[in-house]
Amino acid sequence: MATKKKTSSKRRAATRKGEKTKKKPAKKATKKQVRKSRSRLMPKIKSQPRRKAVSKSAKKTALKKPTRPMKLIRTIRDLKKYLGQIRSRRQRVALVPTMGYLHEGHLSLVREARRLATVVVASVFVNPTQFSPSEDLDRYPRDLSGDKRKLKQEGVTIMFAPDTAEIYPEGFQTYVDVTEVTRDYCGATRPGHFRGVTSIVNKLFNIIKPDLAVFGQKDYQQLVAIRQMVRDLSMEVDVVGMPTLREEDGLAMSSRNAFLSPSQRQQATATFRGLRKAKRLLDSGERDSAELAAVVLDLLREEQDIRVEYVSVCDPETLERIPEVESSAVLLVAIRISDTRLIDNIRLDVRKSRSRR
Ligand code: AMP
Repeated sequence: MATKKKTSSKRRAATRKGEKTKKKPAKKATKKQVRKSRSRLMPKIKSQPRRKAVSKSAKKTALKKPTRPMKLIRTIRDLKKYLGQIRSRRQRVALVPTMGYLHEGHLSLVREARRLATVVVASVFVNPTQFSPSEDLDRYPRDLSGDKRKLKQEGVTIMFAPDTAEIYPEGFQTYVDVTEVTRDYCGATRPGHFRGVTSIVNKLFNIIKPDLAVFGQKDYQQLVAIRQMVRDLSMEVDVVGMPTLREEDGLAMSSRNAFLSPSQRQQATATFRGLRKAKRLLDSGERDSAELAAVVLDLLREEQDIRVEYVSVCDPETLERIPEVESSAVLLVAIRISDTRLIDNIRLDVRKSRSRR
């Protein structure tokens, strides 16, 4: 009780303090009049970025129960129609695009979407245009009923699971191509991949018109490409990037981990061990990108089934390779184990306390 009193008196004091700094209301103004005049003074709020500020304490609170049961929708027409019915002006709509076979990493994006929006659309679509002919489109793991159960449990509003002809009807020929940030790394080893990604994301944005869309930092280059597309095409979508969720041994969660044999699964942990080692080396003062990449390469080369596609230290925004880490960088890795391709990354930020010394 005592703490309660203390908090409310503190709050009253803070309110009084705040009012002093603003223009004083007329002496006899009622509280209602004061509120009204304040709201007239703040019309600019509409042009502010649309992302809601989420306080730390709000983040910890449990998510609200969804107001309606999840609906599984298979066609663009039905999706637009249903969104038209349930969408109200004040409610924010979030999109979480996925290729399904959902794991905790995907679900962490869904939870963030639920925290930030009232209506959450999760798409499950194995997008053929982001696979080259030699890649694993046909064997990509699928589990629609499992995905449906998981998304329902997470309180998603709509699960959008179209088939290929719904998204790419005969005669389809329009793509979005982000040219520079997609040139290297996965763009070099998977030609056409990012064109497929940005095109499908663009199409989903056009269909759903979300206020925000949530993506994982695990696919770092993809996240950078999407941010670039949103900027370049003046799209009104907030792009939210979420940290990589990992298994207990550090392996980044991925639908493709299902392809690994127990021995390959064990070898794959070398990736994150390498990334962490590079981070420790940075923290001990090493700034040279080649040295930082070398510790990752050394660990990966110890594993007999791993073939390294790339290990690169680059600028976190432009993705240009940098010879040394001055303040921030990202270390990107892609490997192959047999036919399975895995990617991972780690941020390399020079500790501020060091530079202050
Ligand atoms: P995918 O189904 O692989 O296309 O991934 C769908 C979304 O989930 C993308 O935004 C990914 O970056 C994100 N994602 C995949 N794996 C993880 C993970 N381990 N942690 C966080 N996000 C992830």
